[in-house]
This record gives sequence, structure tokens and C-alpha cells, in this order.
Amino acid sequence: MDVSMKRRTLLKVIVLGDSGVGKTSLMNQYVYEKFIRHYKATIGADFVTKELHIDDKVIWDTAGQERFQSLGAAFYRGADCCVLVYDVNVLRSFETLQNWHEEFLKQVDPADTEAFPFILIGNKIDIDGGNSRAVSKKRAQEWCAAKGNIPYFETSAKEDYNVDEAFLCVAKTGLTHE
Ligand code: GDP
Ligand code: MG
Repeated sequence: MDVSMKRRTLLKVIVLGDSGVGKTSLMNQYVYEKFIRHYKATIGADFVTKELHIDDKVIWDTAGQERFQSLGAAFYRGADCCVLVYDVNVLRSFETLQNWHEEFLKQVDPADTEAFPFILIGNKIDIDGGNSRAVSKKRAQEWCAAKGNIPYFETSAKEDYNVDEAFLCVAKTGLTHE
């Protein structure tokens, strides 16, 4: 499809990853350019997902139900790009990426799985000046290479480092997906 045609439509971007890795903070940093320092659960029981409209993107965030099979088909339906997020200081959140990746691919049209645009974000690189890192950049890059060259960004939602760059890539990647 011609990119200029697709640009007029909204991109549906979904953000996945373990609870606490910083998905909501990254979105807040990107959208409002501010970091919510004191995390508050603002989600009512019937509030399943959060939907944000920004420029040409509709970003779907999970609202605290980061368990597999709990998000439902509507969350995934029609996605143009999937942003996977882990915390570079928490090994488990990196290991779980495998499950999030598989879960996502299970939910999208099988014809789409080969070239589906993913982006990986390793967040919280500010913590302890990088001394509490549990996953090296190299290891993350190798994972991305094995998954068909997923673009990789390391960010700090707290210090607003590399967040815009990552979301710019989301726009580009989503647009080239047909
Ligand atoms: P979510 O569950 O993936 O949506 O994670 P949240 O965005 O709610 O963040 C979980 C906690 O991590 C909150 O206390 C945030 O303030 C904190 N946090 C998020 N991003 C960063 C970051 O880049 N650096 C640091 N130091 N803390 C962060
Ligand atoms: Mg959240």
C-alpha cells in the first residue's frame, strides 16, 4: 500500500510487557512529556484498556491486567505495530518477552506474522547509573536479531531519554506495514 495513503489513517499501536516495566510511564513521557513520579493506579475494575490518541497514532496500553490471555481479542485486533517493553534491571521481564511475542503473534492474522512490525524497548536505564542492569544491550540486540531484526531502543521514561526516538520509529514501522 502507498505510504502516503496510509498516513491519513490512524495507526493502532499496542504496548505489551510485564507489569511495572514502565509502559504507562513511557506513554506519558511521550504524550505529555512528563514523568509521573508517584505511581498511582487509576484504573477501575471495568476499565480494560487505556486508549491514547496522539498525532497519527492510537496507542493501547494495558491497564494492569498484564497476564496472558487476559487482554482479549479487541485489544489486539487491527494492530499496526506492537511495542514490547522490558526493564533492563529485571531479568524476568526480559525472559517474559518471548511469551508476549508469541501471545501477540497468536492473536494477529497468521498471514501477517512473518513481517509484523515489533519494536523492543529496554526501559529504566537510569537506575543506579546502569550498575543494576540485569540484561546487557548485546543480549537484547541478539534477541531482536533472532526475531527478524526488531528495532531496539534503550530508554528512561524518568529522564526522558530516547523516548521520542522510540515512538518515532513506531510511527515509521507501523506505516510501512501493509
Ligand atoms: P507499567 O506497569 O508497565 O505501566 O509501569 P509504570 O509505567 O506504571 O511504571 C512502574 C514504576 O516504574 C513506576 O513507579 C514508575 O514511576 C517507574 N518507572 C517507569 N519508568 C521508569 C524509568 O525509566 N526509570 C525509573 N527509575 N523508574 C521508572
Ligand atoms: Mg501501566
